[in-house]
Amino acid sequence: AHLARIDAVDEKVHAFLHVDREGALAQARAVDAKRAAGEELGPLAGVPLALKDIFTTVGVPTTVGSKILEGWIPPYDATLTRRLKEAGVVILGKTNMDEFAMGSSTENSAYGPTGNPWDLTRIPGGSGGGSSAALASFQAPLAIGTDTGGSIRQPAAVTGTVGVKPTYGAVSRYGMVAFSSSLDQGGPCARTVLDTALLHEVIAGHDPLDSTSIDAPVPPVVAAARAGDVKGMRIGVVKEFAGEGYQAGVMQRFTESVELLRELGAEIVEVSCPSFEYALAAYYLIAPSECSSNLARFDGLRYGLRAGDDGTRSAEEVTALTREAGFGPEVKRRVILGTYALSSGYYDAYYGSAQKVRTLITQDFQRAFGDVDVLVSPTTPTTAFPIGERADDPMAMYLADLCTIPSNLAGNAAMSLPCGLAPEDGLPVGLQIIAPAMADDRLYRVGAAVE
Ligand code: GLN
Repeated sequence: AHLARIDAVDEKVHAFLHVDREGALAQARAVDAKRAAGEELGPLAGVPLALKDIFTTVGVPTTVGSKILEGWIPPYDATLTRRLKEAGVVILGKTNMDEFAMGSSTENSAYGPTGNPWDLTRIPGGSGGGSSAALASFQAPLAIGTDTGGSIRQPAAVTGTVGVKPTYGAVSRYGMVAFSSSLDQGGPCARTVLDTALLHEVIAGHDPLDSTSIDAPVPPVVAAARAGDVKGMRIGVVKEFAGEGYQAGVMQRFTESVELLRELGAEIVEVSCPSFEYALAAYYLIAPSECSSNLARFDGLRYGLRAGDDGTRSAEEVTALTREAGFGPEVKRRVILGTYALSSGYYDAYYGSAQKVRTLITQDFQRAFGDVDVLVSPTTPTTAFPIGERADDPMAMYLADLCTIPSNLAGNAAMSLPCGLAPEDGLPVGLQIIAPAMADDRLYRVGAAVE
């Protein structure tokens, strides 16, 4: 049924870069056979899923939304891919994304934009717009995203779906193409909080193949989603996430959600996190710095595209021509920014200062979580903007992640879930919930209460 739905609508939505029809049907049949044989199956066995095209999938193309990996077929599965398969999840295909996950609208994909199912002339968020659009257009009930600065939560917010960035280190990064290794985190997406929790339990857990993977039990996210109770919890409203640049309808729905939390028995307090003001600036030094280092491996020699290799050119020339042809403008912009920020003489002033700001932001969170159980804010300052509106204005594009970036810098856990439609444009608004590291269950407890 989901493959038929993809056939019917994806020409318009363009959520998928690749549909793995045979693989999906084979997995579905394998699950059926196990069920017929009386084998005990997990709760997600046989459930279809849309996988962001940043996770390696053996035998199935993985492009990261870039021309530089066009035609590359990975010889191995990411740990996340393997866990999904072991749980009997049916991977329908790979979803569209901003090239190397750099963007907030999916317009930076080398394979063309994805439409927001609520209004196809608008962006579905980014970088994981394909995954969230697949959910919102009922092409898949489950999806996977990755969140370096907001790429799970921001698409969830603008498509009216649920997305969780787990605690940094909770989900293995092995086989997840690296953008900014100290920030990147894979996570679950779905249309309900409970579905998201069920997927969270499948993908999270220690992996010896990822040195930053946390070796501790996964918090009880499914039990929390089933409980859905906020009575007696202390919930902080971050004062700094408001004011200029925030759409009136977004603030209205957010304020109503806070009132609902109060009615359900939570105690609401205002919290100040003064260093959040510098989060965007610090992020746009740290993320490009790490990306300039990570993307050095795309040299035209190891995998994917190779340009200009006609037997007359040196390896350096082939690498330069490959990068020229294979990387899009945003990727080039970030590699140049990052190389500059890390260069000798500038390192302390840029990268060093950004790392200090990162510590201040972490301390703001620590202070806040000394007083409250979770923090709440709008996920994004505005609803989905029209395709093309911010394409030539990187600064305006970067502002879409104003509320999501602090959690990546601090490594804690955060969720976006729908909290109604903005009255002025009828488009979905996202509520963000932030919990301390390794307290991911609190997101699901609060999210299920207000869903
Ligand atoms: N929009 C942010 C960026 O462009 C975040 C992207 C992400 O989370 N992958 O870097």
